[in-house]
Amino acid sequence: MKNEALSYLARHAWVGGAWAQDVLLGVAKDGLWSQVQVNATAQQQAGAMVLNGPVLPGLVNAHSHAFQRAIAGLAERRSAGAPASDDFWSWRDRMYCAANRINPLQLETIACQLYSELLAGGYTHVCEFHYLHNDLDGSAYANPAEMSLALVRAARRTGIGLTLLPTLYMRSGFDTNALRDDQRRFASTPDSIVRVVEAVQHQAAGDATINVGIALHSLRAVAPTALNELAAYAQSNRLPVHIHIAEQVQEVADCVAHTGLRPIEWLLTHAAVDARWNLVHATHTTADELAGVQRAGASIVICPTTEANLGDGVFDLPGYAGVGGNWSIGSDSHVTRTWTEELRWLEYSQRLSLRKRNVAAQVLQHASSAAGMFEAALAGGRPATGQALAGIAVGQRADFVVLAPQLPALLGIAPDEVLDAVVFSSPGRDADSVFVAGTRVGVEHQEAAKAFAQVMGEVWNGYKR
Ligand SMILES: [Zn+2]
Repeated sequence: MKNEALSYLARHAWVGGAWAQDVLLGVAKDGLWSQVQVNATAQQQAGAMVLNGPVLPGLVNAHSHAFQRAIAGLAERRSAGAPASDDFWSWRDRMYCAANRINPLQLETIACQLYSELLAGGYTHVCEFHYLHNDLDGSAYANPAEMSLALVRAARRTGIGLTLLPTLYMRSGFDTNALRDDQRRFASTPDSIVRVVEAVQHQAAGDATINVGIALHSLRAVAPTALNELAAYAQSNRLPVHIHIAEQVQEVADCVAHTGLRPIEWLLTHAAVDARWNLVHATHTTADELAGVQRAGASIVICPTTEANLGDGVFDLPGYAGVGGNWSIGSDSHVTRTWTEELRWLEYSQRLSLRKRNVAAQVLQHASSAAGMFEAALAGGRPATGQALAGIAVGQRADFVVLAPQLPALLGIAPDEVLDAVVFSSPGRDADSVFVAGTRVGVEHQEAAKAFAQVMGEVWNGYKR
């Protein structure tokens, strides 16, 4: 952790759910905010390091399977011999191919690349839902935390905060107690998960940006007795609990067939769900289930780009916001690595299915769709991690992002519209070089950008956007 106190000055920073000006930001030696003073006087600003761009709190990426970064972009073709239509389950077979090839050193390398990209994408902390425990042949490593510690090393090397969630995975479906052969690396018991938790806690002792929780893979993969045994351990050790809950129509149907209840109904009836619980992919739900999650004080982790990529379905944001439910976001399979795209897809999926605009603003009762979603996702970081990660406020961890003021999306944008612009005015990626009719065309951005920013001022001057 830091060994000296730091002082920054943000001309514009997102504080308490709104943009504030001339914000003096003090960071204590323990890495937590010790001072957040808006409208600091010139005298107070003296000596502080000026941050050159709008400052946002870092967001928690509440759901990650780091190894899946290795298949991003590689599961987008119809494979020979695949079923008539490609779906989640055929994607999963492909994902297992990658899962069964990656050794600890390779996992560390993949995670380093991923975590660097997540940091660049505005995330400052990641929750690893980690079920790749065993050696390639399914035998246990001498150290049961071998694969987990590869993720810890990657977090340390890149500097991202990490909540490692060793994941219990015991069976391939509701009707069996066994795993498929291609699930051999996931084999675990409540005891083996506790050993991983303890090993990671030991390894991360003294590192305040790394902590642990536990995960239960899903109701189909964990039998009720084991689920409650591990949940009780998490409860007594005050650890966050994550579970995949209702991503697929098929798993909801299987749950109903075997238990008579839908997944969230079953969970709320049979487990002591409370504010430590994070339900990942609550995609297929009823109004009663969403109300029940809210009453329990639990949170939902929404992974909009992965849920779109896998053809899962659309999260009922209006229904859940209507009962005041808590939620966070995750990039899950890492088909994208920036939170702006997760929020954009969350809103766009609503627009496409409801044929309306600014659904998030409406249902979250916020003037801005982007700002409303950002605030909700920010608040979801604390229950997902069990850490003080709830924005720029005294006592919270000093995780923040300085946006580049020269971003094309921010040209000519007023400070109070920055979130709208970074979420909904998505910049294209720069090509290395561009040719038209065989000739390389030059792109002298600087002058054009300056002129554009000036025109924006002229066009919108005095007009309420
Ligand atoms: Zn997942």
